[in-house]
Amino acid sequence: ANINRLNIQRRQVLNDFLDLKGNIRVFCRIRPIRIGEHFGRLRPVVDSESSSVILKFDDNKSKNYSFDKVFHPGSSQDQVFSDVEPVIKSVLDGYNACIFAYGQTGTGKTFTMEGTPDTPGVVPRSIEALFKQAEESNHAFLISFSMLEIYLGNLKDLLVTHPTKATDPLPPCLSIKTDPKGGIEIDNLVAIQVSDFNQALRLYRLGCRFRSTASTNSNTTSSRSHCMIRITITCFDAPERGRETNKIWLVDLGGSERVLKTKAWGRRLDEGKAINLSLSALGDVINALQRKKCHVPYRNSKLTQVLKDSLGEDSKTLMLAHISPKEEDLCETICSLNFATRAKSIHLGHGDSSE
Ligand code: ADP
Repeated sequence: ANINRLNIQRRQVLNDFLDLKGNIRVFCRIRPIRIGEHFGRLRPVVDSESSSVILKFDDNKSKNYSFDKVFHPGSSQDQVFSDVEPVIKSVLDGYNACIFAYGQTGTGKTFTMEGTPDTPGVVPRSIEALFKQAEESNHAFLISFSMLEIYLGNLKDLLVTHPTKATDPLPPCLSIKTDPKGGIEIDNLVAIQVSDFNQALRLYRLGCRFRSTASTNSNTTSSRSHCMIRITITCFDAPERGRETNKIWLVDLGGSERVLKTKAWGRRLDEGKAINLSLSALGDVINALQRKKCHVPYRNSKLTQVLKDSLGEDSKTLMLAHISPKEEDLCETICSLNFATRAKSIHLGHGDSSE
């Protein structure tokens, strides 16, 4: 009976998701408080009934932010993925999709996307679900895996050999081309055909090893780049679909905190500035889409150029906004909640002309 109830719930989530054609869905996840940390005067509370995050302050004041789904600090990776899974199904049904994790450093973006060996995150689970659903479908699919990062405003392929010594030459940066239909192509991005989950997982682990990670004052394992996984799926035995290729981007964005607050300097400062610039370009694109402006400034950053055709009418976009439970992070928490609220009100597919 429980399994049946779960299946019915999952089907409902899937139907809700497919109905929302052209919308950006926004989920919000609150990181649990860690040993030695204190809430302060703030308490972010989840109201599941209204899918809201309520910021409660000591003086009885509160502020309410509602989303499509909210996850409290105790939510498991399984619970998060059960609400994410419909996006994977939509890719096999012929949509492009994009799932991105947004938030300040240390709020759990990598935990949600990559997870840990014991509690795998959205990326490994998505790959597994993709292969499982492809196998269960009546169609044959070709699946390819690519992985890149945007570091200091440059695109780096994470599946090509990276230098081990300072004297080794760096692999060339990738460039982006727009095809005549407005689609995006990344020149020379390695795309490896994968035939099962384990093969794809091995590539993912390899790519993770080549990421530009460094320690900052905000978080010792924070990443100062955007990590982007692209999986392309071509259905080659459905003549009505004409060998169409769909893709899903799984993106772990760099930390959204304002760089001056991190007390970073030198290279870390440059990295922070590059992240801030590209996230602000993402915010500008979101604003332009929300206001139905004729000009959507996709070209202002590599991040928005790459994601351009994942923010369109036939795409499913899911933003996973992450926030900290601590009062000392309140300013960044409010910025993230405002950013996520703006994204939620977008209705795409209004026939805008754009750059
Ligand atoms: P970010 O990628 O946003 O910088 P991380 O994913 O590295 O943040 O998370 C920071 C720390 O908090 C990590 O040690 C991570 O394991 C832990 N953490 C984050 N979210 C959760 C969660 N929902 N449950 C348990 N631990 C979490």
